[in-house]
Amino acid sequence: MARKAKKSTAKAKKVAKAKPKKKVAAAKRAAPKKSSTKIAVVRAAAGTRKFTMGEERIPKAWYNIMADLPVPPPPPLHPGTLQPVGPDDLAPLFPMALIMQEVARDRYIDIPKPVTDIYRMWRPTPLYRATALEKALGTTAKIFYKYEGVSPAGSHKPNTAVPQAFYNRQEGITKLVTETGAGQWGSALAMAGTFFDLHVKVFQVAVSFRQKPYRKALMEVYGAECVSSPSGETNAGRAILAKDPDSNGSLGIAISEAVEVAATNADTKYALGSVLNHVLMHQTVIGQEAIEQMTMAGAYPDIIVGCTGGGSNFAGLTFPFIGAQLRGGKKVRVIAAEPAACPSLTRGKYAYDFGDTAHMTPLVKMHTLGSTFMPPGFHAGGLRYHGMAPLVSHLKELKLIEAEAYKQNECFEAGVLFAKTEGIVPAPEANHAVKGAIEAALRAKRDGTSPTILFGLCGHGHFDMQAYIDYGEGLLEDKSYDEAALQASLDELPRLAAE
Ligand SMILES: *Cc1c(COP(=O)(O)O)cnc(C)c1O
Repeated sequence: MARKAKKSTAKAKKVAKAKPKKKVAAAKRAAPKKSSTKIAVVRAAAGTRKFTMGEERIPKAWYNIMADLPVPPPPPLHPGTLQPVGPDDLAPLFPMALIMQEVARDRYIDIPKPVTDIYRMWRPTPLYRATALEKALGTTAKIFYKYEGVSPAGSHKPNTAVPQAFYNRQEGITKLVTETGAGQWGSALAMAGTFFDLHVKVFQVAVSFRQKPYRKALMEVYGAECVSSPSGETNAGRAILAKDPDSNGSLGIAISEAVEVAATNADTKYALGSVLNHVLMHQTVIGQEAIEQMTMAGAYPDIIVGCTGGGSNFAGLTFPFIGAQLRGGKKVRVIAAEPAACPSLTRGKYAYDFGDTAHMTPLVKMHTLGSTFMPPGFHAGGLRYHGMAPLVSHLKELKLIEAEAYKQNECFEAGVLFAKTEGIVPAPEANHAVKGAIEAALRAKRDGTSPTILFGLCGHGHFDMQAYIDYGEGLLEDKSYDEAALQASLDELPRLAAE
């Protein structure tokens, strides 16, 4: 006992001593205990453009923001009983390990070794200082970006695809079914499936199935099966096709098809690439690494920008920083950049809604455009979802984050400037984050301030060159959503007595 007490006093002294170095202390607090700070972060030389770390610095645990929230988010509800859903309600769709992660309150959840061994293929991902972009903008801001396009599938999606495949395999599942918008999630899960010997079936939103044949080819290389959605294979798909044989599809419809297949086949489970708590948590490897890399750069962000479709890459980058802030660290301004054509955070209603079009999922409280909202077919398929992750929505309500909406032409303009300066061609989705970061940098120039800006470059655009061709030829329209259609969709939101 006495020895223990002594030890903790020593520890307390150490903490007290470390206090004046506020930035480093915040970074230390944010790191999981186990990985802690045995190996000190080494400050990089001045002029360093690319901050890289060895595989030993891959986070040992995922960060769960639930542990640090001042108020917990409203629970998901069973659509029949309107009671909070329990683990058993979700068991037909997900393995128990993921269901438990969905409701976990622990601050850190250990990453299993087989998952880390696969993360080693591309993690830690590099953090860059965008010196050439800064110069082109003539800004006084420092701009950094965390690049997730180095993963084999080309985006952040494998960060969650791999653990999802792992936990399913561990519980004896042999088949996974999912939906994909732009094709990034489908290819990430196809890759993870082949690593863990799982058969993967993907319903791809019809418009991107037509626009992006190479994404389908990539899924097939990994051994997955890819079907255009709406399809004739499910009740949900057939119902849509009966009304509109040329339907462009939507993520909401594709989710309905995938959920139906999982719910009606015992050997098959469903995997979701965004929105859910456990998915957001798996992505926090991004932000945890970024905290260490910013320390290497001798910097800490004043502003963080991420693009939001369902919210997972945004959460992955920002939650570890927001968590550090909630535990007494430095305050950061966090901006979600979303498409003006599908503006759930800026124009949606914060209400209980279904996650899919056919109303098979639980009701979750989120910023939503209504589950029947059909966004126009713009070129950032990964951002065409009617809702936003409940956790991201909750943080917006708590005013811990803000949101901005951008039109597609201005986003491509930002992406092309980025490619011409920094060399990387961003995914159309990531262009929203590039645009948001550029806007923040230009604001700083006008205001005569010099903030440190960090943004998430969540994927490359090598499979999206048709979009860049269309942009170059002036063919992209800045479609806004149809105001009347949005109102009609919002009028159909489920009515709950409690709200
Ligand atoms: C899927 C995807 C998105 C949108 O999903 P989030 O869950 O919001 O991250 C954004 N960018 C890229 C590159 C994607 O693959």
